[in-house]
Order: sequence, then C-alpha cells, then structure tokens
Amino acid sequence: MLTVCINGYGTIGKRVADALMKHPEIRLAGVSKFTPDADARIALSKNIKIFVPNESRDSFVNAGITPSGSIGELLDAAEIIIDASPDKKGAVNKQEVYVPKNRRAIFQGGEKENIAEVSFNARSNFNDAKNKNYVRVVSCNTTGLCRIIKPLTETRSDVEKISVALIRRGADPNDSKGSALNSVEWEANSHHAHDVQTVLGNIPISTTAFKAPQTLMHVHHISVKFKDKSPSKEEVENIFSNEPRVAVLKTAKSTADIIEKARDLGFIRNDLYAANLHANTIASDGNGLSFIITVPQESIVVPENIDAITSMAGLMDQKSSMELTDRVLGIGNIKSRLEAAFG
Ligand code: NAD
Repeated sequence: MLTVCINGYGTIGKRVADALMKHPEIRLAGVSKFTPDADARIALSKNIKIFVPNESRDSFVNAGITPSGSIGELLDAAEIIIDASPDKKGAVNKQEVYVPKNRRAIFQGGEKENIAEVSFNARSNFNDAKNKNYVRVVSCNTTGLCRIIKPLTETRSDVEKISVALIRRGADPNDSKGSALNSVEWEANSHHAHDVQTVLGNIPISTTAFKAPQTLMHVHHISVKFKDKSPSKEEVENIFSNEPRVAVLKTAKSTADIIEKARDLGFIRNDLYAANLHANTIASDGNGLSFIITVPQESIVVPENIDAITSMAGLMDQKSSMELTDRVLGIGNIKSRLEAAFG
C-alpha cells in the first residue's frame, strides 16, 4: 500500500480524503488540521486521523479532540503529500517544508505552473507525471476544458481556433467570501487559455472569464472553428457519450436544475466529478461548432488528484488507474443516472 497524506483539509482536501479512505491501493495516513472545529470532529468520526501544529496540540485536547501527532510527523510518514492548501500557500509549503524534508507532493490549480515539473490532467497527459516529484493538478475550469478539448482534438486534427467564455462561480457554497452580490466581473484574455496549454501544448485557444454571484457551478460556452466541415450534433454526442468523465445531458436548462437532480438522486455533497456537456446547446454550422459545458468546481479535480498519485508512484497504467478511480468514486453510476434523468 502506498501511504499518502493531505495537507489542507478544506473543500478539495476533504473530498480527496473521503475518496482515499475507499481506495484499495492507497492508505491515507491522515490530514492536517489547524483549528479544533467541527471539520476536525467529522474527520475523526470517519476514522480519518488528524495531525496538528505542535503549538496547537493543547487547544485540540482542550476541545476534546485527540490528534494522532504533529503535522511534521504526518508529512514524514507519507510517500506523497497532497497539498490542498489555499491559493499560493502550496508554494510556501513547498519551499519551507517539502523541499527541506525531501518530500514528493501534488499541488492544486491555485498554484503557479512553475511550482511543479508537470501540470496534470488524467485524460490528457497521465504518463507525464510518472516518477515526478512535484505535480500540479490543474484548476477546475482547466480540468473541464481539457476533458472536452482532448477527445475533440483526438477525433479531429483540423481544429483551427477555440474560443471560450467562462462564467465562473463567485464562491463555493461553504464560503462566506465571494463576488459582489449585484455585479458580474469580466477579464478578457484570462489565464485559463494558457493553463490549458500547460497540459495540452500548443492548442489555439483564447478565453474570456466572467465571475458571477452564484455558487453552484462554472458554465463555459465553447466555440470551435475547424478547417473543414464541423462534426454534426450526433457526432459530438457520440464522442462524449464514450468519455467516462463527461456526462452528456440532453434537457438540462440551468445549473440549479442539475444540482437539484443531484440532490434528488442522493449524490454525496451533490458531487458529480464529471463535466456536463449540454447536448441541447450544440450548434454545428459550416466549419463552426459551439456548445455549453458545466463544471462542478468542488469535485471535478478529485479523481485527477487520485490518478496523479498512481501515476507519480507508477502504481498502474492510465486505463487501470482511471477505471479504478471512477469505481471508487462511483462516477459511472453518477454519469448514467444523470444522463438518464436528463434523457
Ligand atoms: P479551502 O480554503 O476550502 O481549504 C484550504 C484548507 O487549507 C483549509 O482547511 C485551511 O485551514 C488549510 N490551510 C491553511 N493554511 C495552510 C497551510 N499553510 N498548509 C496547509 N493547509 C493550510 O481551499 P480549497 O477551495 O479546497 O482550495 C485548495 C486548492 O485547490 C487551491 O489551490 C484552489 O485554487 C484549488 N481548487 C479549488 C477548487 C474549488 O472549487 N474550491 C477547485 C479546484 C481547485
């Protein structure tokens, strides 16, 4: 069994922790916790060990929470660290702790690309993380785009231009921060285009990002220009029906509609893991194609973190890893039930 730990037990960290507790080939040594709060108690109730800063140990014990040790001990015990700390803190952790301790680590999309030797998306470049010491799982938006663009460019080699308008969620559902209540912010030539290129190479892409006051999902409108005639609606549906981490939804009309069905179907935390491609938005005309995807920001990178571990450790090949991860998270079941609901 490969031993892994999580440093940063927030939105991403707690989802990856739950997944690793179910993984047959990976042992979760524990998670770091800085505050003796409800999240710490919930972790313990799930048999997830918590490790705390030495100077905070007494405050945990006084709150009735027994840590298993210090964060330093946790990091020493793990063969690979998943760093899911807030944006840019991963870089500090790397410099101050992981490099001096000679630890291997996986970082998240809030870090700059140069934090790692490779930017990672399992469907696109699984093998590039093999034997690497530092890997960055790209952001939720970039993961969603890679899951769409990679299969499209595998099927068609004549893609001339991809333009994307991203409507980003202003905050996660658990955040008290976030975008202004009555305002939509925009940014032309946003960083997302370059971020996709860190995984897929020299793809001709440009992105404009909007930040909207809602929490449920990101929404992308993707336009693709081909050299020759664009694929038909049916051809696009076929390509993505065969993608295990893309759900093709035919009748969904809004992010609220999708999340409500996720709740009705009893998916834990409403987590979908898959990107949704909305078949009722596909427009194919001449050499142009456009459609909308939705990106469940809190969960889409969870399978990618697990595949990044197996790739770095050389535990299994791409197909075996992605299939096992999907089984552990129940992604096949989520995709088929959501597709059936929006049939
Ligand atoms: P979060 O704020 O929900 O959780 C971060 C956790 O890290 C908190 O529990 C915090 O206490 C802990 N922490 C604080 N300082 C730390 C330190 N120095 N070392 C270790 N842990 C520390 O953040 P999040 O939303 O889970 O984001 C984590 C990373 O994942 C970021 O890089 C973010 O850009 C990326 N990401 C987030 C989302 C999303 O939708 N939330 C999606 C994809 C990628």
